Amino acid sequence: MAAPAAEGAAAVALRAVLARAGRAAERSGRAAEAARVVAVGKTKPMSMLRQLYDAGHRCFGENYVQEIITKAPQLPEDVRWHFIGHLQSNKVKPLLTAVPNLDMVEGVDNEKIANHLDRAVNNLGREPLKVLVQVNTSGEECLMTIGMKDYSSTPENFKALVGCKIEVCKALGIPTEQFELSMGMSGDFELAIEMGSTNVRIGSTIFGPREYPNKKQNQ
Ligand SMILES: *Cc1c(COP(=O)(O)O)cnc(C)c1O
Repeated sequence: MAAPAAEGAAAVALRAVLARAGRAAERSGRAAEAARVVAVGKTKPMSMLRQLYDAGHRCFGENYVQEIITKAPQLPEDVRWHFIGHLQSNKVKPLLTAVPNLDMVEGVDNEKIANHLDRAVNNLGREPLKVLVQVNTSGEECLMTIGMKDYSSTPENFKALVGCKIEVCKALGIPTEQFELSMGMSGDFELAIEMGSTNVRIGSTIFGPREYPNKKQNQ
């Protein structure tokens, strides 16, 4: 298939995703913009990301440190980058240094990473970084945070995460509307939004299927 046609498709797909996300949010009794759509461009070329940028999209996600470091400088600084997935502590500094417009780290899964991020933010003197704590919804654990995320998406997990959010908000005295919940990907984002997600991570539905068999990438 010719590249230009395939590229045009990403912007079209994005528009469809935004519309679907908007309707799902309205079904949940919230405003159409209640759930942020993070365009997850991992393995996809800059030309496709640029196409979304030109269509007005500003929120992009990557989950390999090397890839986000390479891509971020190629788009204007008003992009809000999300790092999604597991982050190694020795990659915290390079990530924050190379991506000054990193907006959020989705997936802080241990205290050590939280401390590394905190130190790096202070050392760089950058504005505070938003983080979401990864919650294991199959267990009973609930972590204090400004947000939560979960990868394994089933209605049960979504429900568990929503319950966890309510508990944490109660414990910390935070209004639930101010609390982020990142759940939902290409296959289940509408359900996730209907159940209260404020942040969905959409890759293949926007960019098309990723073409790698057994990925071996630098994190
Ligand atoms: C790749 C990825 C996504 C996007 O997945 P799709 O199913 O392609 O939408 C979402 N979240 C994380 C953590 C990912 O690594």
